Amino acid sequence: MATSDGKGAVDLTAARERMVARDIAGRDVQDERVLAAMRKVAREAFVPESLRKAAYEDTPLPIGSGQTISQPYIVAFMIEALQLKGGEKVLEIGTGSGYAAAVLAEIAGEVCTVERLHPLADRAESIFAQLGYRHIHVLRGDGTRGWPAYAPYDAIVVTAGGPRVPEALKQQLAIGGRLVIPVGAGQETQELLRVTRRSATEFDVEEIGGVRFVPLIGEQGWPNLD
Ligand code: SAM
Repeated sequence: MATSDGKGAVDLTAARERMVARDIAGRDVQDERVLAAMRKVAREAFVPESLRKAAYEDTPLPIGSGQTISQPYIVAFMIEALQLKGGEKVLEIGTGSGYAAAVLAEIAGEVCTVERLHPLADRAESIFAQLGYRHIHVLRGDGTRGWPAYAPYDAIVVTAGGPRVPEALKQQLAIGGRLVIPVGAGQETQELLRVTRRSATEFDVEEIGGVRFVPLIGEQGWPNLD
């Protein structure tokens, strides 16, 4: 919970430091690049005004259009799983609020992010412009097809749960690149997979944890029932 100075102002910077110490470094995320990025990005800028005081609770929060900003611990865990060293080209599927793209942009050289819901993409893009993230590029559309124009990617992260690993994403990974994606047979829970491309045709797959994400909807995801 964020603290107040007694006059009603909330110290969100201190709340952010505490959240990273308690919920991220205090659990099993150890990569210093990821911890530094989590300390730097102001999550409150990406949540609706009415929820800003809750920005440093380690939970998902609603962002409109039936979608959520992910739990900070999960954002950090997934980014750590990408094994970034700095300067890479990264693709994110599911821009949502834009928060995870901003955390990625603190480490990577270039971030491409795809969102199917235009109001969310528009809002995230204007926050990136306000905060000066010129190396984040936003595409509106079905991210299960990836973003071929910028491929290949050193790392790809999917922040919605699909029934399988989309073939287009595997093909847009650089050799040696890592793809982190929640995959589940139903839409409720998923297993987080890390797929590493060993050669043009060989991929290693590791199961790295159980997660709960909103559905990945698209050609190589779940059907759109709206
Ligand atoms: N990374 C986000 C953040 O930091 O706020 C959280 C994303 S939210 C859990 C998942 C997002 O994936 C939603 O905004 C949803 O609209 C989007 N999504 C679902 N299927 C998609 C697809 N095929 N292509 C692009 N975005 C998709």
